[in-house]
Amino acid sequence: MRTIPHWINGQEVEPTSGNFGPVFNPATGEQQAQVGLASAAEMNAAIANAKAAFPSWRATSLSKKAEIMFRFRELVVAHRDEIAELVSIEHGKVPSDAAGELARGIENIEFACGIPSHMKGGFSEQVSGGVDVYSIKQPLGVVAGITPFNFPAMVPLWMFTNAIAVGNTFILKPSEKDPSVTLLMARLLKEAGLPDGVFNIVHGDKLSVDTILHHQDIAAVSFVGSTPIAQYIYSTGTANGKRVQALGGAKNHMVVLPDADINMAADASVSAGFGSAGERCMAISVVVAVGGVADPLIEAITARLPALKVGPGTDPTNEMGPLITGEHRDKVASYIAGAESEGATLVVDGREGTLPEKGFFLNPSLIDNVRPGMKVYDEEIFGPVLSVIRVDTYEEAVELINNHQYGNGTAIFTRDGGAARQFQFDIQVGMVGINVPIPVPVAYYSFGGWKSSIFGDANMYGPAGIEFYTHTKTITSRWPDPATSSVDLGFPQTR
Ligand code: NAD
Repeated sequence: MRTIPHWINGQEVEPTSGNFGPVFNPATGEQQAQVGLASAAEMNAAIANAKAAFPSWRATSLSKKAEIMFRFRELVVAHRDEIAELVSIEHGKVPSDAAGELARGIENIEFACGIPSHMKGGFSEQVSGGVDVYSIKQPLGVVAGITPFNFPAMVPLWMFTNAIAVGNTFILKPSEKDPSVTLLMARLLKEAGLPDGVFNIVHGDKLSVDTILHHQDIAAVSFVGSTPIAQYIYSTGTANGKRVQALGGAKNHMVVLPDADINMAADASVSAGFGSAGERCMAISVVVAVGGVADPLIEAITARLPALKVGPGTDPTNEMGPLITGEHRDKVASYIAGAESEGATLVVDGREGTLPEKGFFLNPSLIDNVRPGMKVYDEEIFGPVLSVIRVDTYEEAVELINNHQYGNGTAIFTRDGGAARQFQFDIQVGMVGINVPIPVPVAYYSFGGWKSSIFGDANMYGPAGIEFYTHTKTITSRWPDPATSSVDLGFPQTR
């Protein structure tokens, strides 16, 4: 059985804990590798290496850091197909979808290429007689990222690009379910000229995460994953004096107003509901059909489903791959069964129909007459299940969304600019699409939901990422004329 190693101090390091996690090929259901789950001693050793690498990396010029990021970008682009294939074989998403994930990740490298500009501080001349004030940004030290299985390339890129470009050293604890792609990125970072010890990967489970959260040399923790774990990471990390950004789960609603283009809304529902088998934190999982739109919309969505090709990514014509594990597939199936017993209507049952014999597959499901209070609505399913809620008015749609525990993404489909603008004003959700079903912000904005989709105030990547990974230091400076010096015990004033 192939063993996936850690990456510490610029090289692969064989695991020594004796604990391993299985890495499946979700499209065949077979275990293809094992990943070492680090002991506390292995994690501590990696953190010590990252700490030792910090002083000289911090002192490296901004131009040199930018140059490494430019080279890294070129290398990732050159290895694009290899990376997408690696994502596909461990995650299960089809290669074209994996390539899309990578393209969005590359945007974050491009943002980090502009690091000399992002690190500019402020300067105010003559705040008082002969006194100037300026602010500078400085890195925090050793920072850590803990990432989920569903974007094994993109989410790490959200974090480590800015974190290391501003001068920190980094410990990545990727999802143990699909860990290999990060090792390829580590090799590319080294090839791009990144000094050893600046970027490290330690595979692991709760023990590794807890070691990070309690380690005195970890200054900040970035987390993306499910809400209960995000909450735990935030409360434990901040209780240990760390800066923490913790992004959690989601339940994203797409409102379709009566004036919307039904075909466009149906295409968007299918793409955003079933792309990546619904395992996206920005997937649409609930369509809110306003007024008379429900029947024609459901008809249009249903008509599109038989044409969706479900199967392994090795066949380039397939559009939707398997779920990540057999256990997760069964959990998703239990929501479908539960919806029917709670009184919803199964329009299309994804447990039925032709499916590959092996692997963790489900077909797309469409459920009508869903209501708050049903598990299928209240909870995040994270699978290819699209619910429809029927409401009479726009106001009911807004109230429904604002009452949901999650507030990651949402979308409205309409031809009415005024209604769309009102929606962006009313809705208590962090990322909003107007006729755009998956409004993941570009890398020069920042990513973050509201409510139970985030713990802490710090959004991920872009300008918020630069802020998160740096301290601000403000300097008040005077170059005195000795002739003006005197003793004055009063509090300094500017007027
Ligand atoms: P997860 O919470 O199970 O795991 C995320 C990370 O936490 C992994 O690295 C895992 O090893 C670690 N972890 C798991 N259990 C832990 C525990 N008890 N203590 C400490 N660490 C633990 O999430 P997942 O299943 O890998 O990913 C899917 C979830 O991530 C979904 O809920 C999805 O909505 C969410 N997600 C959110 C965003 C966002 O930006 N808001 C983006 C992607 C995914």
